[in-house]
Amino acid sequence: MVDWGVIGLGSLDGRSCVISPFRTARRVSALAARDRLARVAVHEAGHTFNLEHCPSSGCLMQDANGKVATTDREDDLCPVCRRALAAKGIAVPDKVAKP
Ligand SMILES: [Zn+2]
Ligand SMILES: [Zn+2]
Repeated sequence: MVDWGVIGLGSLDGRSCVISPFRTARRVSALAARDRLARVAVHEAGHTFNLEHCPSSGCLMQDANGKVATTDREDDLCPVCRRALAAKGIAVPDKVAKP
């Protein structure tokens, strides 16, 4: 197993997850770091709702493979992940456009 270090970690169908700003804040503005951390938070919370990694490019549940740059390319939850959450009764708001 490769040790990427931890950006975030969530237990599948579990009750806890952790995120760390250490790697997400590297070499970016405070605003970009906050955006990254928010993406990681949604990803890890998704794991606790039993979402596994998603193969759809740009989905927030895509595996970062240890690269924070992958997180930067993530845009939103894909329709498959949204449906999986909806099936559990979890409403996901529509994406909010950036100002
Ligand atoms: Zn993950
Ligand atoms: Zn997805």
